[in-house]
Amino acid sequence: MLSEISRIVSQLEKTPYNFDPSSSNTTHALEALSNYTEGFYENLPHASAYQAEGYEQSEEDDFMTLSETSDLPSIINFIKTRLDPPGLNPASGGHLGYIPGGGLFEGAIGDYLAAVSNQYAGVFYASPGAVRLENNLIDWAGKLIGYDDGFTGNLTSGGSMANLIAISTARNHCQITSQKIVRSVIYTTQQTHHSLLKAIKITGLEECVFHQIAIDERFCMIPAALEKAILTDIEKGLLPFLIISNAGSTDVGAVDPLSTISEISNKYGLWHHVDAAYGGFFMLTEAGKRTLNGIALADSVILDPHKGLFLPYGSGIVLVKEGNRLKNTFSQEANYMQDTVGDNFETSPADLSPELSRHFRGLRMWIPLKMHGIDKFASSLEEKLLLAQYFHIKIQELGFITGPTPDLSVVLFRYEPSEGDVNLFNQHIIKDVHMHCPIFISSTTIDGKFWLRAAILSVRTHLKEVNTLIDFLAETLLKNTKN
Ligand SMILES: *Cc1c(COP(=O)(O)O)cnc(C)c1O
Repeated sequence: MLSEISRIVSQLEKTPYNFDPSSSNTTHALEALSNYTEGFYENLPHASAYQAEGYEQSEEDDFMTLSETSDLPSIINFIKTRLDPPGLNPASGGHLGYIPGGGLFEGAIGDYLAAVSNQYAGVFYASPGAVRLENNLIDWAGKLIGYDDGFTGNLTSGGSMANLIAISTARNHCQITSQKIVRSVIYTTQQTHHSLLKAIKITGLEECVFHQIAIDERFCMIPAALEKAILTDIEKGLLPFLIISNAGSTDVGAVDPLSTISEISNKYGLWHHVDAAYGGFFMLTEAGKRTLNGIALADSVILDPHKGLFLPYGSGIVLVKEGNRLKNTFSQEANYMQDTVGDNFETSPADLSPELSRHFRGLRMWIPLKMHGIDKFASSLEEKLLLAQYFHIKIQELGFITGPTPDLSVVLFRYEPSEGDVNLFNQHIIKDVHMHCPIFISSTTIDGKFWLRAAILSVRTHLKEVNTLIDFLAETLLKNTKN
C-alpha cells in the first residue's frame, strides 16, 4: 500500500514540479513586464481617456479560454491589444469622469512584491512585519483626519467594503437587534453614495425607517432639518440610530457640515458615519482641512487611497474612533487558530474585518508614500483643487451655467440654450465628448436636470488636460448652437 502511494506520487510530482521559474526564466518574464510597463507609460499621454469601440465579443477573445496554454509574451500581447484599449483608461490624465485617481506605478510594485512573498497579512502571528506596517499606515490615516489615540481601522479593497465594515460596526455597537430594526431610523441625504445603501441591505438594515434630510443649494445636509427629524422621530417612539454624511459626495463633491452634524449626533446618542471616500485625503491640504473641519468628531470615517492617493484600484480604509467597537464587531475565535500569539503587540486585520486570508495590501500604499514623500501628494491634491476653481471660472466664461463653487474638485455644469430641450442639448454635448474628445467626463441628473460633471483628481490631470477639455467644449458649443 505505502510503496504504491510513493510510486504514484513520484510519478505525479514530475509533471507539476516545475511551477517555479528558473532564474533565466524570471529574467525573461521581468523583461517582458518591463517592456509592457515602459510602453504603457510612453503611450499614456497620447491615448484617449475613453475608447467606445471594442465592447463586442471578437474572435480574439478565444484566447481567454483555458483549453490551450500560452507563454508570457503572447499573454502580455493579448492584454495590450485586446484587454487594455476598450472602455475607460483609468490611468489617463484625461479621465475626469466619476471619481478618478490614476494609479501609481509604485503601487503596482507593491502588489508585485506582496504577491511574490505571499505574506499572510491577515494575522499578526503569521506575518508580524506586514501587520505592523499596515497598522502604521492606519495610524497615519487616522491622525491625518484628526483622530486621537484609541481609534483603529482596516485597509480594505475599496470604499464599498470600508462602508460595509463601518455600517456593520454601527449596527453591532448600537445593538440594533432584529426586534428593533423596524423602529430604528437612518438619516441620509439625496447625495448619499449607493454603496452605503448596499451596505445597509447587506447588514439586514433595509427595514429601518429612512429619512432623507433636506439639502441646501450647495447640496449639503441642513442640520436644523436633521435635528427636527430626530425630535419628531423620538416623539413618535422611534429609535434614531445612524446619520450618514458626506465629506465630498461623488455626485457633486458636497461636504456636509460635519461638526454640527456630530454635535447633533452626540446630543441624541446616534452613530455618525462620514463617507470621505472621495474627499478624505484633501486633509493633506490647508484648504481641504478647512473644508473638512470637524471630520474627527465622527464615529467612523472611510477613505479611498485609490482615489485621493492615486493608488491602483484595490485600496480603501475604514477608521473607527473607538477602536474596540470595530474589534467587538469582527473578532471571532476558532479552535484551529489556537496557536496564534502576539495580539498583545498588534491587532490583526482578521479581527477588524470580514477577511481572514488576505493580500498584503499595505505594501501598495506604503511604497508610493515612502518613495515620493507625503508633501508631493499634498501638492498634487492642492493642484487638483485649484484646477477645479480654474475650470469653474473658465466654463462660465464660455456661457455654461455651473453648480456651486466647488468645495473640492468636482464641477457641475450645463448649457441652457435659449430654445429647445435643455437636457437633450447637454446629452448631445456629452456624446460628442465621448466620441471625439481625448478627455472623458461623466454626467448626472439632479431633480430632473441633466448636468455634466468634471471630477479633477487623477494624478496625471494638469492644466493641459483641463484646457483641452475647455477648448473642445467651446468648439462643440459653437457647432451645436449654430444648427
Ligand atoms: C467611490 C466612492 C465610494 C465607493 O468606493 P469604491 O472604492 O468604489 O468601492 C463610496 N463613497 C464615495 C463618496 C465614493 O466617491
